[in-house]
Amino acid sequence: VAEKTSGIEKSVWVEFIQLALEVKPLNLGQGFPDFAAPDTVRKALAKACTNDTNVLLNQYTRSFGHPRLVAALSKLYSKLIGREINQQTEVLVTAGAYEALFVTIMGLVNKGDEVIIIEPFFDCYMPQVKLAGGTPVFVPLRPRKTTGVTSSEDWVFDTEELANAFSDKTKAIIVNTPNNPLGKVFKYEELMMIAGLCKKHNVIAIMDEVYEWMFYTGQEHIRMATLPDMWERTVTIGSAGKTFSVTGWKTGWAYGPAHLMKGPQVIHQHSVYTCTTPVQEAVAESFEIELERFGTPECYFKSLPAELEVKRDNFVKILSDSGFNPIIPEGGYFILADVRDIISKINIGGSPNERKDFRFVKWLSRNRKLQGIPPSAFYSPEHGDIGENYIRFCFIKEDENLEKAGEILRTLK
Ligand code: PMP
Ligand code: GLN
Repeated sequence: VAEKTSGIEKSVWVEFIQLALEVKPLNLGQGFPDFAAPDTVRKALAKACTNDTNVLLNQYTRSFGHPRLVAALSKLYSKLIGREINQQTEVLVTAGAYEALFVTIMGLVNKGDEVIIIEPFFDCYMPQVKLAGGTPVFVPLRPRKTTGVTSSEDWVFDTEELANAFSDKTKAIIVNTPNNPLGKVFKYEELMMIAGLCKKHNVIAIMDEVYEWMFYTGQEHIRMATLPDMWERTVTIGSAGKTFSVTGWKTGWAYGPAHLMKGPQVIHQHSVYTCTTPVQEAVAESFEIELERFGTPECYFKSLPAELEVKRDNFVKILSDSGFNPIIPEGGYFILADVRDIISKINIGGSPNERKDFRFVKWLSRNRKLQGIPPSAFYSPEHGDIGENYIRFCFIKEDENLEKAGEILRTLK
């Protein structure tokens, strides 16, 4: 085994997806919809691989992204960012946002560089920074209050702590908005503060915006790349899996100025080289359809969050009624619920060396056949005590499954 893999062996996904396969729980763990993706999207893929007039759609395509898809991405993001995005040099298609994060980090971070990560964070950022030879520097969001009704808006970074995390070794900062697992949608002032520090210290912003369309009433998703003088220093990452409810398609992208895309392209061309052609063709067609009805209620970028907001509100009520105090998410499709009271009443077993949330999630899967995800997996070891008081549930699920989860949770009250 190569030395570089030492210390990063564990993955919460590998562990808990294995557990789900074993105990077959009601699965509110890993984030994916349990209902069908839009017809237009599914039909586009069937059409792409059975197209008799263009059989080449089943063969290799361009390394940095299938031409029809990079054209659609450049059209969409040019409109959203307010500048012309070059489809040849400023967009890269990857095997999911996961690979986009990996090639961005590998392609931009040098040995000895520091990378600031705001916690809670999508877990792969830390091992990816380490694989690039970088040192992660963590800045946690902390709750301003934990009692009564709380929202992801109550979770904030300490501005002084963030400013102090920047040093002359800092190469990049990774920010995920809307955030997984918290559901926080970063506010204009918060993003401006981060942008100011990036400019002051000549730092790159790596923006994980995979939930860019999923934000709820009163919220707005602000793209870092639109803030003054930030395009030049920002790489933004997106996911077709999240955008079109097809997580199994594992198609993502990164976009940013050509000088920042060069490194990620080189890593991509020497690892994955090119992503699946018919899937890229289908994602391109799906974007073209949404671009046609952009801004209307029928557009999937509007209809999905509208549907999700109802699920969020119902599930918040289910959790509150069951004694799991939820943190109401402003965006994304996850919710954190406080498990302190519940855990104090049950013998969850497991080893005391293991975090409480890991032990509780395993207990709940095995004994009540309901799966969540332990939030301390989204924290560095030094801040895991913030996350271990919660459980993460995914609510992009059929209403009847959210109801069933409620029936199980109520028995624990
Ligand atoms: N970033 C975040 C915040 C995520 O939640 C996920 C999970 N899908 C990813 C990146 C990876 O996305 P993909 O499935 O497109 O690889
Ligand atoms: N983003 C999803 C989640 O947070 C899926 C994670 C994964 O596939 N590794 O549940």
